[in-house]
Amino acid sequence: MNSETSSNNVSDVSDLNNIANGNLQAQILGLTDSHIHYFAQNAQFPETKVGIHQQVLPAFQALVAKGKDVGITIEIASGFRSFERQLLIWNNKYTGKTAVKNIDGETLALAELSSLEIIQSILLFSALPGASRHHWGCDIDIYAPNLLPKEQSLQLEPWEYEPTGPMAILTEFLAKEAQPLGFYFPYDNYRGGVAAEPWHLSYAPLANKYQQAFDMSTLKQCLNETDIKGKNIIINELTNIVKQFVLNINPNNLSTATPATGATRG
Ligand SMILES: [Zn+2]
Repeated sequence: MNSETSSNNVSDVSDLNNIANGNLQAQILGLTDSHIHYFAQNAQFPETKVGIHQQVLPAFQALVAKGKDVGITIEIASGFRSFERQLLIWNNKYTGKTAVKNIDGETLALAELSSLEIIQSILLFSALPGASRHHWGCDIDIYAPNLLPKEQSLQLEPWEYEPTGPMAILTEFLAKEAQPLGFYFPYDNYRGGVAAEPWHLSYAPLANKYQQAFDMSTLKQCLNETDIKGKNIIINELTNIVKQFVLNINPNNLSTATPATGATRG
């Protein structure tokens, strides 16, 4: 896999060149991390790093500071993910190495499903490689480790973020503080595509641009060159998959207020 195959034809989005160092389509597909800043969140584990878009850093740091003021330690559970990583997640689910669950959290018996049903089931919780917003670096899954009960590890399940869950205070905090800093929730509700993800924040000034530049034919070319499981059906159904699982998100993203922090460069 190299990025040359997907770096063509970005002339119609030439105003996006300042998003990062050139290769916009490669960033969208997760084929490069040239736009990513890696950092350790916990001084005790300096080798454990997460990555986010360089230009999201000021807004993220502002959010962390606001959280700290009210006793909420905000950390990233999942930031940037490469195409390769997403491909591994995908293939592990398709082959049953990792459990594939339905919307109620029940593990599915893959042998009873058609290939298309397996694909649609995976897409409920895991993005198609090349079409994950985590490739962009401006989308992050967040949680507050200091709100977790001691014996409990984070599951990233909606109940944890509901009013009776351990992350309830974080949810309340984000409802107030995220949008003024330029963040919104693309998966605020289940719309028949991706399941609700109350932990998934998207930095609108960048995400909107990536979303507008997203190109299905480039994605198709990219997938064609990989050993993704279910490839033929994915390629045949790509238009529907993109419509149902990639573009089917919170429509209020474009109305997000201009961020108060310096959004142009960290
Ligand atoms: Zn996410």
